Amino acid sequence: MTELRLHDTLAREKRVFVPADPGRVTMYACGPTVYNRAHIGNARPAVVFDVLARFLRHRYGAEAVVYARNVTDVDDKIIEAARNEGVDPETVAARYEAFYDSDMGALGVEKPELTPHATHNIPEMVAMIARLVASGHAYEADGHVLFYVPSDPDYGILGKRDRDAMIAGARVEVASYKKDPADFVLWKPSPPDMIGWESPWGRGRPGWHIECSAMIERHLGETIDIHGGGLDLIFPHHENEIAQSRCAHRGAPLARYWVHNGFLSMAGGEKMSKSLGNVITVGELLEQGHKGETLRLALLSAHYRQPLEWSGSLIAQSKATLDRLYRAGGDSAVGEVDPGVLGALADDLNTPLALSRLAAIDDAGVLRGSAALLGLLEGSHESWFRGEGDARVDALIAARADAKNRRDFAEADRIRAELAEEGIVLEDSAQGTIWRRA
Ligand SMILES: [Zn+2]
Repeated sequence: MTELRLHDTLAREKRVFVPADPGRVTMYACGPTVYNRAHIGNARPAVVFDVLARFLRHRYGAEAVVYARNVTDVDDKIIEAARNEGVDPETVAARYEAFYDSDMGALGVEKPELTPHATHNIPEMVAMIARLVASGHAYEADGHVLFYVPSDPDYGILGKRDRDAMIAGARVEVASYKKDPADFVLWKPSPPDMIGWESPWGRGRPGWHIECSAMIERHLGETIDIHGGGLDLIFPHHENEIAQSRCAHRGAPLARYWVHNGFLSMAGGEKMSKSLGNVITVGELLEQGHKGETLRLALLSAHYRQPLEWSGSLIAQSKATLDRLYRAGGDSAVGEVDPGVLGALADDLNTPLALSRLAAIDDAGVLRGSAALLGLLEGSHESWFRGEGDARVDALIAARADAKNRRDFAEADRIRAELAEEGIVLEDSAQGTIWRRA
């Protein structure tokens, strides 16, 4: 059997993956806060952990894997977006969750076994907070409940940062009601006109970190096999999850393996951010005519721990790779998984190596079987080429019309000749240009 090795952020090395119970392998990845459209950087963890889930289902059996990815459907960003629009937070959350599902579906991300929602797990969060208060790890102050960081001597084990760096990095508000500047919110008060739930500390709503700890406990257990997320979640989110869960569970660790994906940057290494105005959403990329599968392959082209630079040429290369793979795979039935591809994925999900091994497979059935483990070549040969080719012809015809408008007749003739070489005949009419294959 192929041994899976994963880089564990906590151990800072690759470790052989041995689930606590091979009959029930548990994985949790932090999911979206549903207040806007997912950008391509948000899609990276969804695709990476989808590949890991596919590998685990292949290795341990589909019925043995429980992968949960939460939906944060109550949050101050959602509340603010709803207020700006004059609608309920539920309306905003439901709309962007539907967008998230369809965007990730387009990228070939399979729905995880469980998608727990924060708003469906409030009693579990209240119960966990109450236990933390009772054991001296949390305290009530000014309508809030805060986790008391000095009560946990192991706080910060994941990132191993020093305390001052953590306080500075978290940009924590030094509120007068905090006993310690590093303390973080578990529960906060909601005014009467704001979404909220009754609790022993008055009507309020949960902080973000507690939801993952409470949902993991309820749906997966005290200690899970794999906890995943983006590198940016290590601090403070995952440090806080670890502290809450361990203190609520008499020291039992939250996860046995911690897996984090690297950042996605824009060409030139610029971080994708709203303030820089270089955010590209998955929806925009799909509207530009790129297929979800092309975007998926682009996201898998770098090793998940490495930074990934997003660019037009990366998309073009990924499309060319898929053209080749679909030609080689044809419409043959899905066969076995190639040991070379399996071995590459087993080595800390080395997707670039798996993709290069995929390209070297001769047998069409084995190619399709192996590609399926990466969530690729799942469509038909015909559907891959049909739509894509037409969109390209349409784009060239539009470019030719544009050239004619500029009175650049040489360019217009060049485009006509290029299409003629592919056997595409153009007929100009008063209504525009129509085309057919000769
Ligand atoms: Zn989380």
